[in-house]
Amino acid sequence: MAHAEQIADLRLLVVEDHGFQRWMLANTLAKLGARYVFLAEDGEAAMKLLANLDAPFDIVVSDLDMPKMDGMEFIRHLGDFGTPVSLIIASGLEPSIIASVEKMARAYGVNLLGTVPKPSTAKQLLDLIQLHGPSHARQRAAPSVRIAFALDEILAGLRNGEFEPFFQPKIEVRTGKVRGAEALARWRHSGKGLVAPYAFIELLEESGHIDELTWVMLEKAAAACGAWQAAGFDGSVSVNLSLKSLADPRAAERIAQVVTRQNITPRDVILEITESATTKDLGSTLENLSRLRMKGFGLAIDDYGTGHSSMQHLSQIAFTELKIDQSFVRNASTQEASRAMLESSLELAAKLKIVAVAEGVEMMVDWDLIKKLDCHLAQGYFIALPMDAGAYLRWLRERERPRE
Ligand code: C2E
Ligand code: CA
Ligand code: CA
Repeated sequence: MAHAEQIADLRLLVVEDHGFQRWMLANTLAKLGARYVFLAEDGEAAMKLLANLDAPFDIVVSDLDMPKMDGMEFIRHLGDFGTPVSLIIASGLEPSIIASVEKMARAYGVNLLGTVPKPSTAKQLLDLIQLHGPSHARQRAAPSVRIAFALDEILAGLRNGEFEPFFQPKIEVRTGKVRGAEALARWRHSGKGLVAPYAFIELLEESGHIDELTWVMLEKAAAACGAWQAAGFDGSVSVNLSLKSLADPRAAERIAQVVTRQNITPRDVILEITESATTKDLGSTLENLSRLRMKGFGLAIDDYGTGHSSMQHLSQIAFTELKIDQSFVRNASTQEASRAMLESSLELAAKLKIVAVAEGVEMMVDWDLIKKLDCHLAQGYFIALPMDAGAYLRWLRERERPRE
């Protein structure tokens, strides 16, 4: 499920009390090719539509905070309804609330495709709509089913070389100069087009196969970094590392070998580790991280602000970069709590003398704010979308002057 002509056949319902937001969502869906978009201003109106229309909906896009019947109650009824339907939550609420609603939705047996912020981009909606496979339409999803691919399929794709990094630039806010790029995994699926990480990371992590992706990504990302350096563009490459990949005490050594084989040095590579991750192998994780730092790799705390757990132990490690989670960045200009989180993260980075990166800079207002707050680096759709290696090099050439 991916293309405009398939979206054209989907029956979509937008449940949102705010008139302008409702219109925005409908408009974005229409731009993606949707022809059947129904609108409801709250859960009650949505239930009436669900009860009265002859054909079921395929995907419901719903707000949470609504008068009369709120999103939580509506999701419960959606689960009771019996007809299979996929759900996308559109909400500007705090990540912690959203996370618990996500759990709740799965527990009610609703096929949750994911959450988009408000306002959301066409790409964010499209990424989730693509997860609505034909299988969901036919059978009622079991609780906690979310991934549209079987593990076998993913592993076959990996072993068949179908995974590659896309690159999203990180730029210096003060000067606008490109400082590097983050490698984000994409699966070029022969039938389904480009598949985003939502659809495979979780399964790979849970099944203990995430390492296979890590090595592919590291090698291809290092090779791309070598290529842009050879073309005269400096800049580091950031690779996402699952904590699970650090359970083996030899991991740091192996990471160093992969990188140097591609003719770049550990100083060109930043390893990003999400703050919310947990590990049972604290000893070997710390050993690996210390060794990685010793070899000169950069280490970034990813999604800062969303987690707590093991990072408390890991804070003993000299991280070099703090990536502020996109939910705070995106909401900072409209929500006080997010703004406070953004500011205190920047203060922490300043105290630790490490680089602060604002993720998810989507709009002009986000950019203006992080500039005012003196954030070092920024990443987000406002600057550029993730691109494949070829497109990234072309983007660099258009934007930067190569070193002499
Ligand atoms: P992340 O590391 O936090 O990566 C940033 C995500 O935000 C990417 O999603 C990126 O496309 C998206 N993004 C960038 N700018 C914006 C923006 O302005 N607005 C919005 N709304 N989103 C923006 P993506 O590529 O779908 O990756 C999702 C997550 O999957 C990543 O989050 C990372 O945790 C994980 N991931 C991706 N590649 C790998 C990998 O190779 N290994 C591992 N272990 N995890 C990976
Ligand atoms: Ca990351
Ligand atoms: Ca992140």
